[in-house]
Amino acid sequence: MSLIVQKYGGSSVQSTERIKQVAEHIVATHEAGHDVVVVVSAMGDTTDELLDLAAELNLKAPPRELDMLLTSGERISNALMAIAINALGSPAHSLSGAQAGIVTTAAHGNARIIDVAPERVREALDRGVIALVAGFQGIDRDSRDITTLGRGGSDTTAVALAAALKADLCEIYTDVDGVYTADPRIVPNARLLEHVTYETMQELAMNGAKVLAARSVEYARRHGVPLHVRSSYSTRPGTMVSGAAEIPCAERSVVTGVAHDASKAKITLTGVPDSPELTARILNLVTAGEAELDLAVKEASRTAPGYTDISLVLSRDDSLAALAVLRQEQVELGFEGVHHEERIGKVSLVGTGLRAQPGVLAACCETLAGAGVGIETISLSDARITALCSADRLPDAVRAWHTAFELGADQEAVVHAGTGR
Ligand code: ASP
Ligand code: MG
Repeated sequence: MSLIVQKYGGSSVQSTERIKQVAEHIVATHEAGHDVVVVVSAMGDTTDELLDLAAELNLKAPPRELDMLLTSGERISNALMAIAINALGSPAHSLSGAQAGIVTTAAHGNARIIDVAPERVREALDRGVIALVAGFQGIDRDSRDITTLGRGGSDTTAVALAAALKADLCEIYTDVDGVYTADPRIVPNARLLEHVTYETMQELAMNGAKVLAARSVEYARRHGVPLHVRSSYSTRPGTMVSGAAEIPCAERSVVTGVAHDASKAKITLTGVPDSPELTARILNLVTAGEAELDLAVKEASRTAPGYTDISLVLSRDDSLAALAVLRQEQVELGFEGVHHEERIGKVSLVGTGLRAQPGVLAACCETLAGAGVGIETISLSDARITALCSADRLPDAVRAWHTAFELGADQEAVVHAGTGR
């Protein structure tokens, strides 16, 4: 008998009809003799809708209250799933993240898991009961307040439980058949990948692939939890994410896929006095609210000697906060102007040994030029080549690289729901 953790994304449980179908699948797994722990995301777009409601009332809602609000979404879907399983005659018990022993830091909205003490989950399993755990949430031990793990955090809940319970497998059920060479909503002939290493999956996820939350992949890698990404709409084999099956040959570059991210923005400060201290102060200000920078480029000003221009690429949400702080401090910092590009496209070619073959970078540039996509900057590491382009041309850039590196399949990919979670 094995222990399986199954996670279902929001689009897989967006209606009672879907919940019934998923409940049948869970019961079938249980009846096949496995111990089953289930993590369910909030139904459909619930989390976004709750955020919209809060924003109608208060644009600066207290983070603690936002977490109280958002965690209710997962409580609803998990309780409904337990009710649906019960209707099929099987025992099920739903638990909040706190009840399941998910202990986190105090950082509301983006808390990290620091301990998992799943006694109540184990008790349920020992009694032959299917345990359901509300995803995306935990509790801070000191304040005893409820926290959330950041968007897409149910994946991390599932992986953390799988690690703590020493599960044999963590299955991630979603609305596509697995991990593809590119988002099949943009590249219809994207190819399903049978196996992806943790490292490559992490690059894909950190650079915009929504099929798995990046933090969950990092957690899985650290704890050696094998992940199986598959569709909740079909019985197709899906994608295994685990350690390397073979040692990649360092002399050869292997391109796995193209990730893209449409949620980025760019801030450019012009006429910044050229001083390392000032640059450091600016970077500190921008990242103070835990904003993550994708890129920071400092260039000598073309028009004013002794001055520099600083470009920062970060998520659109973080850029709004950063912009407010920078404008507030403009006089004090002494820069001349600030420019905000609210939408910018980011496309990444992901693979291994990409630096070993200079031809890859050249091919990337040539292909984008051929597709008429202007490149703002391009950066290169062994595992990734990333270009920034205008937001409107992002889909074209993704398709151009996907075609150039012959990543496509003969047939079209199946997209079941289309929300990407
Ligand atoms: N419901 C949360 C979100 O939409 C968590 C998740 O889906 O994993 O981000
Ligand atoms: Mg969700």
